[in-house]
Amino acid sequence: MATADNLCVRIRDTHDRISDRCSEMSDREKKSKWSAKVMLVLLHVIFVGLIFVLDPDLLWKNNGMPWWTIIYLALLLATIVQYFYTAYSQPGFVIDAMRDGNEMHATFVNTHNLQKRQSSSRGGNLGQSENPNSNSSHWFKIVSDLHPPGTSEREWTCPYCNIYQPPRSKHCHECDKCVLQFDHHCVWLGTCIGLKNHCRFWWYLLLQTSISAWTIILYFYFLRQKIPMAWWKDFLAILALVILTLIFIFLFLLCIFHSYLAMTNQTTYELARRRRVPYLRGFSEKVQPFSQGICRNLYMFCLSSKKSYLLEPIPSAEELQNRAASHPWLDCIMCKCCFGFSNSCL
Ligand SMILES: [Zn+2]
Ligand SMILES: [Zn+2]
Repeated sequence: MATADNLCVRIRDTHDRISDRCSEMSDREKKSKWSAKVMLVLLHVIFVGLIFVLDPDLLWKNNGMPWWTIIYLALLLATIVQYFYTAYSQPGFVIDAMRDGNEMHATFVNTHNLQKRQSSSRGGNLGQSENPNSNSSHWFKIVSDLHPPGTSEREWTCPYCNIYQPPRSKHCHECDKCVLQFDHHCVWLGTCIGLKNHCRFWWYLLLQTSISAWTIILYFYFLRQKIPMAWWKDFLAILALVILTLIFIFLFLLCIFHSYLAMTNQTTYELARRRRVPYLRGFSEKVQPFSQGICRNLYMFCLSSKKSYLLEPIPSAEELQNRAASHPWLDCIMCKCCFGFSNSCL
């Protein structure tokens, strides 16, 4: 009981400390978050409003709104709603998983690799989980079981929050918290993208890419009309078209990139800083350590916003070497659930 009480005190202290630091967030940071949101909404109003100002026929035809205009405006509204839905979502903070994990009901640990590792390490190979001192904390046990045996707790203790980080977590200096399955901190959304909101972010990218493509088509349609009009209208339409095309290319590539990350169960941080991430260092770039096949990766990606937290163990060095030696690309394209390579289906 005493250890449980100590843990509760520790969680509360850490949570209070983080809350204090958050409340100290400067007005300048809050203003920059707001200015990014206002700017994004304004950009939509400007680019979409301009096309309807240039050609009011696109909005009203024969005293009625064409059906495609209704769909277009509905898509625009959905994009803005999804933007705010993502901007105000939680990326999945370690401190929250720690609290829920302590309550023993909300943390889901992907046990497949863990069971394999524990069965192979039986017979005297003492991992952190078997260290008597580790029993003092339930969260410590959860986290230490997820890391390869023999790694020091210093390697996975956040020096800023002073809490134990599960694999794939990283401290975000903008949010001043540790984020589970950290992808990146998005300045446009003013929030981190992590385990809990990566899927929402992907949907936002898809909607934003679609509305950009549709708006480009409208500008093309306007410029192709052989109606004599003022030179400044042509100039504005061409300028908007060039800017929109650049935005679309960027969004489209970003959408493809995050689809690839979802299919291979990777994050932007892991891909960009592969050589700096301790558990990825030294392995072929073709090996995706956390990939369970496309179907399962996508299933977990879509399910990640649900209440529980998916904490994934780091596969053993032996397993990663085997994958690198066989057919690493199979990991990416084959579905282990469907092809029976694994018994890790829920
Ligand atoms: Zn931290
Ligand atoms: Zn952040």
